[in-house]
Amino acid sequence: MQEMLGTTGLILNEPLLTERGRRGRCGISLPRRDVESFPIDESITGGGPDFPDLSEVEVVRHYTRLSTWNFGVDTGLYPLGSCTMKYNPKINERQASLPGFAGAHPLLPAALSQGILKLMYDLQRYLAEVTRMDAVTVQPAAGAHGELTGMLVFHAYHKSKGASRSKIIVPDTAHGTNPASAALCGYRPVNVKSNEHGVLSPETIAEVMDEDTAGIMVTNPNTLGFFEENIRQIADIVHAKGGLVYADGANMNAIMGIVGMGDIGADVLHLNLHKTFSTPHGGGGPGSGPVCVKKHLEPFLPVPRVIEKDGRYLFSEDFPQSIGKLHGFHGNVGVMVRAYSYILSLGPELKKVSQLAVLNANYIKEKLKGYLHLPYDRPCMHECVFTDKDQAADKITTLDIAKRLIDYGFHPPTIYFPLVVHGAIMIEPTETESKEDIDIFIEALKEVILEAKEHPERLHEAPQLPKVRRLDEITAARHPCLTCG
Ligand SMILES: *Cc1c(COP(=O)(O)O)cnc(C)c1O
Repeated sequence: MQEMLGTTGLILNEPLLTERGRRGRCGISLPRRDVESFPIDESITGGGPDFPDLSEVEVVRHYTRLSTWNFGVDTGLYPLGSCTMKYNPKINERQASLPGFAGAHPLLPAALSQGILKLMYDLQRYLAEVTRMDAVTVQPAAGAHGELTGMLVFHAYHKSKGASRSKIIVPDTAHGTNPASAALCGYRPVNVKSNEHGVLSPETIAEVMDEDTAGIMVTNPNTLGFFEENIRQIADIVHAKGGLVYADGANMNAIMGIVGMGDIGADVLHLNLHKTFSTPHGGGGPGSGPVCVKKHLEPFLPVPRVIEKDGRYLFSEDFPQSIGKLHGFHGNVGVMVRAYSYILSLGPELKKVSQLAVLNANYIKEKLKGYLHLPYDRPCMHECVFTDKDQAADKITTLDIAKRLIDYGFHPPTIYFPLVVHGAIMIEPTETESKEDIDIFIEALKEVILEAKEHPERLHEAPQLPKVRRLDEITAARHPCLTCG
């Protein structure tokens, strides 16, 4: 079939702007010149870049068409587990784009930045309240950056006690960034296995915890989507040997306003504002990974810290035990504005966010049980994990199922993660999806599973409908072709 411009069914073909350009075409109109024209000396400028000549409408259409090739939470359900790809209220975008926030220069003095400093100060208090921790820094720019901050705080704490410990306990259900952050800080991660219920047993921790171990990093809820219900006992075991408890709170979407991590033994906790607190996640940034600590670790938080003095807000470096600076400027402040706006607009309803997220995940789990193998058949938090075990006889894999879902108009769930589950299919619907939309997703997945038996070739050859068919993933990664249609 001849390639046509514009739409071919629902599939758009779009040449590059450089292919479309025609000499002399112009997208701007300038006022009549009232000075002599002066030719540019090309021996100095080198001729300049060879931009294509295009009309305004050609450029607008080009980018508008390209924008429709994207799939996002504003397009449809985006059930990537471990990511909290949820719909975020547009009101929070609006606040973040207020010119006073969006246009603030990073070097503005405190006297001209009172609003933004107060916002950061108050946000830290709100996050402390939500997590039941004592002090917060909004300096780290991502979850993993928060983990590194936490590990440096661990190190500074032990050093202040005159001890240097070399190990950190990291369960197999931790996020992959946890052992990486520990190692980056010079600690040796000690891997421990979760039990048959997908959570940690206190006995397992008691076996490995010793006085050369700085503490434990627990992702809670963990990457299997379960709440570490023995966390308080585990914290007691770690504390009894002088260690600290790091809680990875990137999965806070399941427990906001329900579990006070500070009340059940966490000494340090990071949050992902770009998952839970209203910043769209997945675009590559910016993010924000605030770190919350208990009182005894507050002196070690990074500087500068936002403080309040006589009703004024300022950055202070006056914390001699601080681990120092981890982020040059707060260029990601828009993420904080969204979180602030989200928390203030929801108030006590934050709890409902988590209740609905958990309800939706359990609904999906129950409805798909019997269609897909459920490795841990027990109530989950905000995400549920299936596998492709029951499709193995038909030579259908998790990848085939994920690709076929695309033909049904859905972004696939997270696949092959968490690593502890072979052939994992991890679904996180989030709280903002309606029952009707979740039902359509469930029906689509059920149909794919039935097809796996009757027409396995449809899964092997999926996706058929989108612009790009199934890629050879290795070639696509090693030799990406960024201009092919
Ligand atoms: C996403 C995630 C992280 C890492 O956060 P980044 O902002 O991507 O660095 C850490 N832990 C858990 C449990 C996560 O889900």
